[in-house]
Amino acid sequence: MSNKTNRDEKNFKEAVLDYHRSEPKGKIEVVPSKPHSSQRDLSIAYSPGVAIPCLEIERDPKLAYEYTGKGNLVAVISNGTAVLGLGNIGAEASKPVMEGKGLLFKIFADINVFDIEINETDPDKFIQIVKGIAPTFGGINLEDIKAPEAFYIEQKLKEELNIPLMHDDQHGTAIISAAALINALEIANKKIGEVKVVINGAGAAAIACTKLYLELGLKKENVLMCDSKGIINHKRENLTPEKLFFVANTEMETLADALNGADVFIGLSKADVMTAEMLLTMAENPIVFGLANPNPEIEYELAMETRKDTIMATGRSDYPNQVNNVLGFPYIFRGALDVQATGINEAMKLAAVKAIADLAKEPVPEAVILAYNVKNLNFSREYFIPKPFDNRLITRVSKAVAKAAMDSGIAGKPIENFDDYENALLD
Ligand code: NAP
Ligand code: MG
Repeated sequence: MSNKTNRDEKNFKEAVLDYHRSEPKGKIEVVPSKPHSSQRDLSIAYSPGVAIPCLEIERDPKLAYEYTGKGNLVAVISNGTAVLGLGNIGAEASKPVMEGKGLLFKIFADINVFDIEINETDPDKFIQIVKGIAPTFGGINLEDIKAPEAFYIEQKLKEELNIPLMHDDQHGTAIISAAALINALEIANKKIGEVKVVINGAGAAAIACTKLYLELGLKKENVLMCDSKGIINHKRENLTPEKLFFVANTEMETLADALNGADVFIGLSKADVMTAEMLLTMAENPIVFGLANPNPEIEYELAMETRKDTIMATGRSDYPNQVNNVLGFPYIFRGALDVQATGINEAMKLAAVKAIADLAKEPVPEAVILAYNVKNLNFSREYFIPKPFDNRLITRVSKAVAKAAMDSGIAGKPIENFDDYENALLD
């Protein structure tokens, strides 16, 4: 590594630590939302006045949405077992990530967040704790919990709670990458029902992504999934139920075998596991999503040098087509909270996919182009996913999700006038 790179990295590290430790420390804080300057204000906000809304809510628990901040409050909950690409770093060390997620919820969708880091790795005990604190919240975002436990934890909590709940590492990624895939296929002029897809990785993100692609029309017999041991085929033993679902009836064993003639590569594994030689064996207009963070399964430059017809997305902001969950979770929860949905169902996820995919095909406002310091953004190989600072996301995605919750019958409080709703979102 050159001295300059070393110096740059050191400077960046210091800047990051400074950002976090400057006062007030951390990234989010609690701000009172009602008058509190007189004795009378305090006797309303707290004792004795506060007993009145307490008794109202005791009479009808739904009134918690009327008299408390519950309806706009999401818990971002982790046990620190799969944090970013850092692995099991523990509950306390995961707190900067959870606070960061709180910041994103607030700035993009004006949703308040309590970040909750729970020191518990036993899935059943973790579930008990989350169930116990659920009454506080209008919704729950599970975050950075290791697979396969994450599948069980999410499934059980969805069954037992009746508020919007989503493990974002699974479904957020699935939704954004699915929107990107739909658009990449359009550019490649290929149909989802016909393409051969290789999924590299069989963890939380990969399993959820592949299941959502199946809902969009991908044929299971056209999927080859690989984990750290190679293709998940009928010769493999001791597979988890999630992997078992994707067993392929093939003798092939390696990623290189799988990619020969494939139309799509979805990487949710780790950096640099795909070689230029492998890319050369893929079908024409190969779709390559190298989503491992921070570095993709094949470097962007290497992929583009190797084949000019590559259609590529990564998880990084410094290359075109960033698959970034922030395009989804703030607005999915916004829409779900606004109709007091009792969950986040498949119809809502598919509505989000479509809204995000469609947005990338529309002319991009000047303000967004300026924010990214580029000449233009037109639907193309270099731009098939909206940018995070595109302020149309809040209206398009939240509306689509709210509407899907209503149409699928899980909205507790349907929106009466969508034009008014849209205006309220823009305020
Ligand atoms: P995870 O649950 O830990 O799963 C990781 C998976 O990768 C496991 O199935 C593992 O195999 C597999 N793997 C490891 N080395 C491999 C190799 N050499 N070849 C094939 N598979 C290999 O993690 P996750 O949450 O799903 O995330 C996976 C990756 O995707 C991470 O890099 C993460 O940063 C990235 N990601 C990106 C986004 C985005 O929006 N860009 C979103 C979510 C995740 P075994 O099952 O055999 O251990
Ligand atoms: Mg995460």
